[in-house]
Amino acid sequence: MSAIPPPPPAGLSSAERDRILAKSALFNPPPPVLTDGRRELVGLSREELAAEMLAMGEKPFRAKQLWHWIYHQGVTDFAAMSSIAAPMRARLAERFVIGRPEVALAQTSKDETRKWLFRWRDGQQVETVYIPDPEEDRGAVCISTQVGCTLSCRFCHTGTQKLVRNLGAAEIVGQFIAARDAYGEWPSPKDDVPRRLSTIVVMGMGEPLYNYENTAKALRIIMDAEGIGLSRRRITLSTSGVVPMMDRCGQELGVNLAVSLHAVTDALRDEIVPLNRKYPIAELLAACRRYPGASNARRITFEYVMLRGVNDSEAEARELVRLLRGLPAKVNLIPFNPWPGSPYQTSTHEQTAKFAAVLNEAGYSSPIRRPRGRDILAACGQLKTEGERLRRAAG
Ligand code: SF4
Repeated sequence: MSAIPPPPPAGLSSAERDRILAKSALFNPPPPVLTDGRRELVGLSREELAAEMLAMGEKPFRAKQLWHWIYHQGVTDFAAMSSIAAPMRARLAERFVIGRPEVALAQTSKDETRKWLFRWRDGQQVETVYIPDPEEDRGAVCISTQVGCTLSCRFCHTGTQKLVRNLGAAEIVGQFIAARDAYGEWPSPKDDVPRRLSTIVVMGMGEPLYNYENTAKALRIIMDAEGIGLSRRRITLSTSGVVPMMDRCGQELGVNLAVSLHAVTDALRDEIVPLNRKYPIAELLAACRRYPGASNARRITFEYVMLRGVNDSEAEARELVRLLRGLPAKVNLIPFNPWPGSPYQTSTHEQTAKFAAVLNEAGYSSPIRRPRGRDILAACGQLKTEGERLRRAAG
Protein backbone atom coordinates (compact mmCIF):
# COMPACT_ATOMS: atom_id res chain seq x y z
CA MET A 1 0.00 0.00 0.00
CA SER A 2 1.44 3.33 -0.97
CA ALA A 3 -0.77 5.61 1.20
CA ILE A 4 0.88 6.94 4.34
CA PRO A 5 -1.15 5.76 7.33
CA PRO A 6 -2.73 8.55 9.37
CA PRO A 7 -1.35 9.18 12.89
CA PRO A 8 -3.38 7.83 15.83
CA PRO A 9 -6.15 10.18 17.03
CA ALA A 10 -5.28 12.20 20.10
CA GLY A 11 -7.90 10.30 22.12
CA LEU A 12 -5.80 7.14 21.89
CA SER A 13 -3.36 8.33 24.44
CA SER A 14 -1.16 6.18 26.61
CA ALA A 15 -3.49 7.18 29.48
CA GLU A 16 -6.30 5.30 27.75
CA ARG A 17 -4.06 2.28 27.31
CA ASP A 18 -3.01 2.46 30.96
CA ARG A 19 -6.65 2.60 32.00
CA ILE A 20 -7.41 -0.55 30.00
CA LEU A 21 -4.39 -2.38 31.43
CA ALA A 22 -5.23 -1.33 35.00
CA LYS A 23 -8.81 -2.56 34.62
CA SER A 24 -7.59 -5.80 33.09
CA ALA A 25 -5.25 -6.38 36.05
CA LEU A 26 -8.29 -6.48 38.37
CA PHE A 27 -9.29 -9.71 36.67
CA ASN A 28 -5.94 -11.43 36.85
CA PRO A 29 -5.87 -15.17 37.55
CA PRO A 30 -4.72 -16.72 40.82
CA PRO A 31 -0.94 -17.27 41.00
CA PRO A 32 0.16 -20.47 39.23
CA VAL A 33 1.22 -22.22 42.42
CA LEU A 34 -0.07 -25.56 43.73
CA THR A 35 -1.39 -25.98 47.28
CA ASP A 36 1.85 -27.82 48.16
CA GLY A 37 3.82 -24.72 47.14
CA ARG A 38 5.24 -26.04 43.86
CA ARG A 39 5.27 -23.53 41.05
CA GLU A 40 3.98 -24.01 37.51
CA LEU A 41 6.76 -23.62 34.95
CA VAL A 42 4.52 -23.42 31.90
CA GLY A 43 3.80 -19.77 31.18
CA LEU A 44 7.03 -18.34 32.63
CA SER A 45 8.97 -16.14 30.25
CA ARG A 46 12.58 -17.08 29.54
CA GLU A 47 13.71 -14.34 31.92
CA GLU A 48 11.43 -15.57 34.71
CA LEU A 49 12.63 -19.12 34.19
CA ALA A 50 16.26 -17.95 34.38
CA ALA A 51 15.44 -16.06 37.60
CA GLU A 52 13.94 -19.21 39.14
CA MET A 53 17.12 -21.12 38.27
CA LEU A 54 19.28 -18.38 39.70
CA ALA A 55 17.27 -18.51 42.92
CA MET A 56 18.16 -22.22 43.11
CA GLY A 57 21.85 -21.38 42.65
CA GLU A 58 21.84 -22.73 39.08
CA LYS A 59 23.43 -21.29 35.95
CA PRO A 60 21.29 -19.61 33.26
CA PHE A 61 21.83 -22.51 30.82
CA ARG A 62 19.48 -24.57 32.99
CA ALA A 63 16.64 -22.32 31.85
CA LYS A 64 17.57 -23.01 28.24
CA GLN A 65 17.56 -26.75 28.90
CA LEU A 66 14.19 -26.60 30.62
CA TRP A 67 12.72 -24.48 27.82
CA HIS A 68 13.78 -27.13 25.34
CA TRP A 69 12.21 -29.96 27.35
CA ILE A 70 8.98 -28.12 28.09
CA TYR A 71 8.26 -26.48 24.75
CA HIS A 72 10.26 -28.43 22.18
CA GLN A 73 9.95 -31.95 23.58
CA GLY A 74 6.65 -31.43 25.37
CA VAL A 75 7.59 -33.45 28.47
CA THR A 76 5.68 -33.04 31.71
CA ASP A 77 7.91 -35.20 33.90
CA PHE A 78 11.31 -34.00 35.08
CA ALA A 79 12.46 -37.64 35.14
CA ALA A 80 12.32 -37.67 31.32
CA MET A 81 14.84 -34.81 31.00
CA SER A 82 17.81 -36.96 30.13
CA SER A 83 20.25 -34.09 29.61
CA ILE A 84 19.84 -33.07 33.27
CA ALA A 85 21.55 -35.09 36.03
CA ALA A 86 19.25 -37.11 38.30
CA PRO A 87 19.90 -35.14 41.54
CA MET A 88 19.05 -31.89 39.76
CA ARG A 89 15.90 -33.42 38.28
CA ALA A 90 14.83 -34.38 41.79
CA ARG A 91 15.45 -30.84 43.05
CA LEU A 92 13.38 -29.43 40.21
CA ALA A 93 10.52 -31.82 40.91
CA GLU A 94 10.46 -30.71 44.56
CA ARG A 95 9.94 -27.11 43.54
CA PHE A 96 8.10 -27.11 40.24
CA VAL A 97 5.49 -28.76 38.06
CA ILE A 98 4.96 -28.77 34.29
CA GLY A 99 1.21 -28.86 34.22
CA ARG A 100 -1.61 -29.40 31.81
CA PRO A 101 -5.19 -28.29 32.17
CA GLU A 102 -7.60 -30.92 33.34
CA VAL A 103 -9.87 -32.11 30.53
CA ALA A 104 -13.43 -31.67 31.83
CA LEU A 105 -14.93 -32.72 28.51
CA ALA A 106 -13.51 -33.72 25.11
CA GLN A 107 -15.57 -34.36 22.03
CA THR A 108 -14.90 -35.05 18.37
CA SER A 109 -17.41 -33.99 15.76
CA LYS A 110 -18.41 -35.98 12.67
CA ASP A 111 -16.31 -33.53 10.66
CA GLU A 112 -13.28 -34.23 12.94
CA THR A 113 -13.50 -30.90 14.72
CA ARG A 114 -12.30 -31.56 18.24
CA LYS A 115 -13.29 -29.63 21.27
CA TRP A 116 -12.12 -29.55 24.84
CA LEU A 117 -13.54 -28.01 27.93
CA PHE A 118 -10.49 -27.37 30.11
CA ARG A 119 -10.71 -26.90 33.85
CA TRP A 120 -8.16 -24.85 35.79
CA ARG A 121 -7.01 -25.28 39.36
CA ASP A 122 -9.60 -22.84 40.70
CA GLY A 123 -12.40 -24.76 38.96
CA GLN A 124 -12.96 -22.20 36.18
CA GLN A 125 -13.38 -23.59 32.69
CA VAL A 126 -12.81 -22.50 29.11
CA GLU A 127 -13.16 -24.13 25.75
CA THR A 128 -10.60 -24.77 23.05
CA VAL A 129 -11.37 -26.08 19.57
CA TYR A 130 -9.22 -27.76 16.91
CA ILE A 131 -10.58 -27.23 13.43
CA PRO A 132 -8.86 -29.50 10.90
CA ASP A 133 -8.50 -28.43 7.31
CA PRO A 134 -10.69 -30.95 5.44
CA GLU A 135 -8.37 -31.01 2.43
CA GLU A 136 -5.00 -31.15 4.13
CA ASP A 137 -3.32 -32.63 7.14
CA ARG A 138 -3.28 -29.43 9.17
CA GLY A 139 -5.61 -27.24 11.13
CA ALA A 140 -6.22 -24.32 13.44
CA VAL A 141 -6.44 -24.30 17.20
CA CYS A 142 -8.90 -21.73 18.49
CA ILE A 143 -7.88 -20.61 21.96
CA SER A 144 -9.64 -18.61 24.66
CA THR A 145 -8.18 -15.75 26.68
CA GLN A 146 -10.81 -15.05 29.34
CA VAL A 147 -13.40 -16.92 31.38
CA GLY A 148 -16.55 -15.20 30.13
CA CYS A 149 -16.35 -11.79 28.49
CA THR A 150 -17.08 -8.18 29.39
CA LEU A 151 -18.32 -7.35 25.92
CA SER A 152 -21.89 -8.33 25.24
CA CYS A 153 -21.84 -8.82 21.48
CA ARG A 154 -25.47 -9.63 20.79
CA PHE A 155 -24.89 -12.54 18.44
CA CYS A 156 -22.43 -14.29 20.77
CA HIS A 157 -23.28 -16.84 23.38
CA THR A 158 -20.12 -16.19 25.39
CA GLY A 159 -21.23 -12.59 25.66
CA THR A 160 -24.11 -13.74 27.82
CA GLN A 161 -21.63 -15.05 30.42
CA LYS A 162 -20.16 -12.28 32.51
CA LEU A 163 -16.41 -11.94 32.81
CA VAL A 164 -15.12 -14.08 35.66
CA ARG A 165 -11.41 -13.57 35.16
CA ASN A 166 -8.57 -13.36 32.72
CA LEU A 167 -6.60 -16.43 31.82
CA GLY A 168 -2.94 -16.41 32.77
CA ALA A 169 -0.13 -17.01 30.28
CA ALA A 170 0.17 -20.59 31.60
CA GLU A 171 -3.48 -21.21 30.82
CA ILE A 172 -3.33 -19.69 27.34
CA VAL A 173 -0.19 -21.64 26.37
CA GLY A 174 -1.64 -24.64 28.21
CA GLN A 175 -4.59 -24.88 25.82
CA PHE A 176 -2.31 -25.15 22.81
CA ILE A 177 0.11 -27.65 24.31
CA ALA A 178 -2.74 -29.79 25.65
CA ALA A 179 -4.22 -29.84 22.13
CA ARG A 180 -0.84 -30.95 20.82
CA ASP A 181 -0.69 -33.68 23.45
CA ALA A 182 -3.97 -35.00 22.08
CA TYR A 183 -2.44 -35.35 18.62
CA GLY A 184 1.00 -36.46 19.85
CA GLU A 185 2.65 -33.58 18.02
CA TRP A 186 5.90 -33.60 19.98
CA PRO A 187 8.70 -32.76 19.60
CA SER A 188 7.78 -29.46 17.95
CA PRO A 189 8.16 -29.89 14.17
CA LYS A 190 11.04 -27.81 12.81
CA ASP A 191 11.45 -25.80 9.63
CA ASP A 192 9.45 -27.20 6.74
CA VAL A 193 8.13 -30.26 8.52
CA PRO A 194 4.33 -30.01 8.22
CA ARG A 195 2.42 -29.43 11.41
CA ARG A 196 -0.95 -30.86 12.11
CA LEU A 197 -1.72 -28.05 14.54
CA SER A 198 -0.43 -25.48 12.09
CA THR A 199 -2.12 -22.23 13.07
CA ILE A 200 -3.58 -20.51 16.10
CA VAL A 201 -6.59 -18.28 16.07
CA VAL A 202 -7.09 -16.28 19.25
CA MET A 203 -10.83 -16.22 18.76
CA GLY A 204 -12.27 -18.31 21.57
CA MET A 205 -13.91 -16.99 24.70
CA GLY A 206 -13.03 -13.45 25.69
CA GLU A 207 -11.53 -10.30 24.19
CA PRO A 208 -7.75 -10.85 23.98
CA LEU A 209 -6.94 -7.14 23.95
CA TYR A 210 -8.69 -6.79 27.32
CA ASN A 211 -6.21 -9.37 28.61
CA TYR A 212 -3.27 -8.06 26.68
CA GLU A 213 -0.35 -8.74 29.03
CA ASN A 214 -1.16 -12.41 29.57
CA THR A 215 -2.05 -12.97 25.93
CA ALA A 216 1.14 -11.29 24.70
CA LYS A 217 3.28 -13.26 27.12
CA ALA A 218 1.67 -16.52 26.01
CA LEU A 219 2.08 -15.73 22.32
CA ARG A 220 5.74 -14.84 22.79
CA ILE A 221 6.28 -18.24 24.39
CA ILE A 222 4.47 -19.97 21.54
CA MET A 223 6.46 -18.04 18.91
CA ASP A 224 9.86 -18.70 20.53
CA ALA A 225 11.94 -20.51 17.90
CA GLU A 226 13.64 -22.80 20.43
CA GLY A 227 10.36 -24.14 21.69
CA ILE A 228 7.02 -24.44 19.96
CA GLY A 229 8.29 -22.08 17.26
CA LEU A 230 5.02 -21.18 15.61
CA SER A 231 5.65 -18.14 13.45
CA ARG A 232 3.70 -14.92 13.99
CA ARG A 233 2.37 -15.34 10.47
CA ARG A 234 0.55 -18.44 11.64
CA ILE A 235 -1.17 -16.69 14.52
CA THR A 236 -4.26 -14.54 14.13
CA LEU A 237 -5.59 -12.45 16.97
CA SER A 238 -9.21 -11.45 16.75
CA THR A 239 -10.52 -8.32 18.42
CA SER A 240 -13.89 -6.63 18.58
CA GLY A 241 -12.02 -3.38 18.19
CA VAL A 242 -10.14 -2.35 21.34
CA VAL A 243 -8.53 0.40 19.30
CA PRO A 244 -5.93 1.67 21.82
CA MET A 245 -4.46 -1.82 22.21
CA MET A 246 -4.41 -2.65 18.50
CA ASP A 247 -1.38 -0.46 17.89
CA ARG A 248 0.52 -2.09 20.70
CA CYS A 249 -0.40 -5.56 19.51
CA GLY A 250 0.86 -4.76 16.02
CA GLN A 251 4.11 -3.23 17.18
CA GLU A 252 4.98 -5.78 19.86
CA LEU A 253 3.63 -9.05 18.51
CA GLY A 254 3.16 -8.51 14.79
CA VAL A 255 0.63 -11.34 14.55
CA ASN A 256 -2.13 -11.32 11.96
CA LEU A 257 -5.17 -9.29 12.85
CA ALA A 258 -8.84 -10.19 12.58
CA VAL A 259 -11.54 -7.70 13.41
CA SER A 260 -15.12 -8.53 14.37
CA LEU A 261 -16.90 -5.94 12.28
CA HIS A 262 -20.42 -7.31 11.68
CA ALA A 263 -22.03 -4.00 10.67
CA VAL A 264 -21.30 -1.07 8.39
CA THR A 265 -23.04 1.74 10.27
CA ASP A 266 -22.32 2.93 13.78
CA ALA A 267 -26.03 2.80 14.62
CA LEU A 268 -26.20 -0.94 13.95
CA ARG A 269 -22.73 -1.79 15.23
CA ASP A 270 -23.50 0.05 18.49
CA GLU A 271 -26.24 -2.50 18.96
CA ILE A 272 -24.51 -5.68 17.75
CA VAL A 273 -21.01 -4.96 19.10
CA PRO A 274 -21.59 -2.47 21.94
CA LEU A 275 -17.85 -1.71 22.17
CA ASN A 276 -18.49 0.36 19.05
CA ARG A 277 -19.97 3.08 21.26
CA LYS A 278 -16.46 3.61 22.61
CA TYR A 279 -14.45 2.99 19.46
CA PRO A 280 -16.63 3.66 16.43
CA ILE A 281 -16.10 2.26 12.95
CA ALA A 282 -14.00 5.17 11.63
CA GLU A 283 -11.52 4.88 14.53
CA LEU A 284 -11.45 1.12 14.21
CA LEU A 285 -10.67 1.24 10.50
CA ALA A 286 -8.04 3.93 11.06
CA ALA A 287 -6.34 1.57 13.53
CA CYS A 288 -6.49 -1.18 10.89
CA ARG A 289 -4.88 1.13 8.34
CA ARG A 290 -1.95 1.75 10.68
CA TYR A 291 -1.60 -1.88 11.71
CA PRO A 292 2.04 -2.78 11.05
CA GLY A 293 2.74 -5.35 8.39
CA ALA A 294 -0.71 -5.26 6.81
CA SER A 295 -0.14 -5.92 3.13
CA ASN A 296 -1.69 -7.88 0.32
CA ALA A 297 0.31 -10.87 1.50
CA ARG A 298 -0.91 -10.36 5.08
CA ARG A 299 -4.39 -9.04 4.83
CA ILE A 300 -6.53 -8.04 7.77
CA THR A 301 -9.49 -10.34 8.18
CA PHE A 302 -12.87 -8.78 8.83
CA GLU A 303 -15.34 -11.12 10.45
CA TYR A 304 -18.93 -10.54 9.43
CA VAL A 305 -21.67 -12.66 10.95
CA MET A 306 -24.63 -12.99 8.60
CA LEU A 307 -27.85 -12.01 10.40
CA ARG A 308 -31.02 -12.37 8.39
CA GLY A 309 -32.64 -9.04 7.60
CA VAL A 310 -30.29 -7.24 9.99
CA ASN A 311 -26.94 -6.67 8.28
CA ASP A 312 -27.05 -8.79 5.13
CA SER A 313 -28.38 -6.55 2.33
CA GLU A 314 -26.47 -5.91 -0.87
CA ALA A 315 -26.52 -2.19 -0.05
CA GLU A 316 -24.64 -3.03 3.14
CA ALA A 317 -22.17 -5.13 1.15
CA ARG A 318 -21.53 -2.12 -1.11
CA GLU A 319 -21.03 0.10 1.94
CA LEU A 320 -18.57 -2.44 3.30
CA VAL A 321 -16.60 -2.23 0.06
CA ARG A 322 -16.53 1.54 0.41
CA LEU A 323 -15.33 1.36 4.02
CA LEU A 324 -12.56 -1.11 3.23
CA ARG A 325 -11.24 0.76 0.20
CA GLY A 326 -7.47 0.87 0.25
CA LEU A 327 -7.15 -1.64 3.06
CA PRO A 328 -5.48 -5.00 2.39
CA ALA A 329 -8.47 -6.98 3.62
CA LYS A 330 -10.46 -10.11 3.30
CA VAL A 331 -13.93 -10.69 4.69
CA ASN A 332 -15.01 -13.90 6.39
CA LEU A 333 -18.75 -14.34 6.12
CA ILE A 334 -19.96 -16.38 9.07
CA PRO A 335 -23.37 -18.05 9.06
CA PHE A 336 -24.90 -17.19 12.42
CA ASN A 337 -24.91 -20.11 14.83
CA PRO A 338 -28.15 -19.88 16.80
CA TRP A 339 -28.24 -20.71 20.51
CA PRO A 340 -31.21 -20.96 22.86
CA GLY A 341 -32.69 -17.51 23.30
CA SER A 342 -30.55 -15.87 20.61
CA PRO A 343 -32.27 -12.87 19.03
CA TYR A 344 -31.20 -13.54 15.43
CA GLN A 345 -31.61 -15.95 12.55
CA THR A 346 -28.94 -16.77 10.05
CA SER A 347 -29.11 -15.28 6.55
CA THR A 348 -30.33 -17.47 3.73
CA HIS A 349 -27.76 -19.11 1.44
CA GLU A 350 -29.01 -16.98 -1.43
CA GLN A 351 -28.60 -13.73 0.47
CA THR A 352 -25.16 -14.71 1.74
CA ALA A 353 -24.10 -15.56 -1.81
CA LYS A 354 -25.37 -12.19 -3.09
CA PHE A 355 -23.51 -10.38 -0.32
CA ALA A 356 -20.33 -12.31 -1.13
CA ALA A 357 -20.71 -11.55 -4.84
CA VAL A 358 -20.64 -7.79 -4.22
CA LEU A 359 -17.43 -8.16 -2.21
CA ASN A 360 -15.83 -10.50 -4.73
CA GLU A 361 -16.62 -8.18 -7.61
CA ALA A 362 -14.83 -5.39 -5.74
CA GLY A 363 -11.76 -7.63 -5.41
CA TYR A 364 -12.21 -8.73 -1.78
CA SER A 365 -11.90 -12.40 -1.06
CA SER A 366 -14.98 -13.28 1.00
CA PRO A 367 -15.15 -16.94 1.85
CA ILE A 368 -18.33 -18.17 3.50
CA ARG A 369 -17.24 -20.05 6.57
CA ARG A 370 -18.57 -23.56 6.63
CA PRO A 371 -20.21 -24.35 9.95
CA ARG A 372 -17.94 -26.80 11.74
CA GLY A 373 -18.58 -29.13 14.63
CA ARG A 374 -22.23 -28.20 14.97
CA ASP A 375 -23.10 -31.64 16.30
CA ILE A 376 -20.78 -31.08 19.27
CA LEU A 377 -21.64 -27.42 19.79
CA ALA A 378 -18.22 -26.25 18.70
CA ALA A 379 -19.45 -22.82 17.84
CA CYS A 380 -17.98 -20.11 20.00
CA GLY A 381 -19.37 -20.02 23.50
CA GLN A 382 -21.63 -23.03 23.21
CA LEU A 383 -19.48 -25.64 24.88
CA LYS A 384 -19.08 -24.16 28.32
CA THR A 385 -22.77 -23.86 28.97
CA GLU A 386 -23.47 -27.27 27.52
CA GLY A 387 -20.68 -28.80 29.62
CA GLU A 388 -22.29 -27.38 32.74
CA ARG A 389 -25.67 -28.76 31.69
CA LEU A 390 -24.24 -32.25 31.06
CA ARG A 391 -22.41 -32.23 34.36
CA ARG A 392 -25.52 -31.19 36.25
CA ALA A 393 -27.49 -33.90 34.47
CA ALA A 394 -24.82 -36.50 35.35
CA GLY A 395 -24.39 -35.47 38.92
S1 SF4 B 1 -17.78 -12.08 20.22
FE1 SF4 B 1 -15.90 -12.18 21.44
S2 SF4 B 1 -15.77 -10.13 22.38
FE2 SF4 B 1 -17.92 -10.35 21.68
S3 SF4 B 1 -19.02 -11.18 23.49
FE3 SF4 B 1 -18.33 -12.94 22.24
S4 SF4 B 1 -16.37 -13.56 23.19
FE4 SF4 B 1 -16.81 -11.44 23.87
